[in-house]
Amino acid sequence: MRTLEASGSAAADRNLSSIVTARGFSELTPERQREMLDCHARHPEDRRVARGLAHLAGSRAFRESDAAAQSAAISEAAIPPRLRSDALRVLNTTEPERIDVNGVPIDVYGANADELETIRTTLGRLPPEHLRTIPRVVVGDTIGHGNNDSGGAWVNEAAIERYESGRGGARNAEAYRAEGWENPPRLELTHESLSRPSVRESHISPTVLHETGHAVDQRYDLSGSMTPESLGGIDYNGRHADPNDPRGPVSERFADGYMRYYLGTLGSDRVAYDTVDGAIARTRPPTSGE
Ligand SMILES: [Zn+2]
Repeated sequence: MRTLEASGSAAADRNLSSIVTARGFSELTPERQREMLDCHARHPEDRRVARGLAHLAGSRAFRESDAAAQSAAISEAAIPPRLRSDALRVLNTTEPERIDVNGVPIDVYGANADELETIRTTLGRLPPEHLRTIPRVVVGDTIGHGNNDSGGAWVNEAAIERYESGRGGARNAEAYRAEGWENPPRLELTHESLSRPSVRESHISPTVLHETGHAVDQRYDLSGSMTPESLGGIDYNGRHADPNDPRGPVSERFADGYMRYYLGTLGSDRVAYDTVDGAIARTRPPTSGE
């Protein structure tokens, strides 16, 4: 009985968690992985254990030996839904609706009729050059491989590379590789962000504008040449806290400035308005002289 007691003790559980952190769940033996399932049942709130379980779901080695018992264990394990990017599942398992916005066709995955109307109405404020920076739009319960709790994400090539390599806190890249899913650049949105009362009323989504601001910024290299001062009083209050500037990184402050520019609420901040207005002017085709 000594062994059993030890395997259920707090010290043993802490040890299991640290093993996962150090080596990754998929590298554990099936016996160890099963111990981890038990450990998760005892500590459902332990995120390191949950992360290990997410890896488990995609571990081919685990699936191939004693598959029945293991799949039963997996389905009982209750992987927290936020650890998975629902958006990537939606992208790979549903057909898109194609909307035409100012002459630019955009495929939208996972949106209901009301959400589609919000996306169409919001994007309708933007010029074709900006719309063409959006490869596709995906709406899901969770975004950014489940790492991101915000309402949206601009998932570009760099983010995809981070996710697929398991860097940047991607907790379940292995699970997605095992599914064989396509992982192309996309603008992701949560259902939650599109169902806020003010959004449903106006059919204008600040999140759509902020994330598009990132895509436009990347395509035209806009914020790279800006200084923190050039964005005036814009204070980015998102999750990407920057220890160097309490107002947040310039790229996020620009995305917020872009958002407010097209919401029509930036006019009171003269410095930021002039910067964003000047940046947007650089994205437009030159008009013919008089
Ligand atoms: Zn952002």
